[in-house]
Amino acid sequence: MTPLPAFTDNYIWLLQDQQQVLAVDPGDGQAVRQWLENQPQLQLGAILVTHHHADHTAGLQDLVQATGAQVFGPALEKLPVPHTPVADGDAIPWGSLRWQVIDVPGHTAGHVAYWAQPEGEDPILFSGDTLFSGGCGRLFEGTAAQMLDSLDKLASLPGHTRVCCAHEYTLANLRFARAVEPDNTQLALYDQHCQQLRAQGIPTLPSRLDKELDINPFFRSRLSSVREAVCRHAQLSLTDDVQFFAQLREWKNQFK
Ligand SMILES: [Zn+2]
Repeated sequence: MTPLPAFTDNYIWLLQDQQQVLAVDPGDGQAVRQWLENQPQLQLGAILVTHHHADHTAGLQDLVQATGAQVFGPALEKLPVPHTPVADGDAIPWGSLRWQVIDVPGHTAGHVAYWAQPEGEDPILFSGDTLFSGGCGRLFEGTAAQMLDSLDKLASLPGHTRVCCAHEYTLANLRFARAVEPDNTQLALYDQHCQQLRAQGIPTLPSRLDKELDINPFFRSRLSSVREAVCRHAQLSLTDDVQFFAQLREWKNQFK
């Protein structure tokens, strides 16, 4: 599995099965074509798209023209090329894998994630801009209630799932996470580890789902430590899960 860097902080994930390649969210077609040219024995056969934003879809036209790859994408969103629409509960067979489609609205209205369990390996999740390491996507089209529900769905996947996010936002997310949970020692250690990786130019991804449950404040908005921090910051007394989550997201939006 290769995180191909694109633009300033995107990753286009590439996965290989024998001679076949699967690409996820190719915002930059040229970057993918160059990668393929260096490995002429490989063929791009399929593309998975998580949502319609240009930094995830701008390379589609170019790649479909060059390779004829089949594109799978959210049923509720428009993409620049014809695509096979997929939604919650669908399965996409690819090589020896079956990608399960999970609806995760919030960042966009129709955002989907893809999960598969390769034989003898840890499962893989392509989470797009819904789940980042240490954070979650901004709410552009959906509500806090939708995003909380989407993250709850992802949290129920097996803990050893490898989380392949579409952006290298980890260090900035962890700075915020540490402001929310200054006493979380796991978080402090993970932050140190990720800082070392970035200092060497190494991606912090994939992350692991069980790690995210320990350190990602957006998975932890029901814990009293996180709730107390949110109330202190917002100077509000909140009562329900969605309010806490919404205020946490708002705090992150303003965080510098
Ligand atoms: Zn996006």
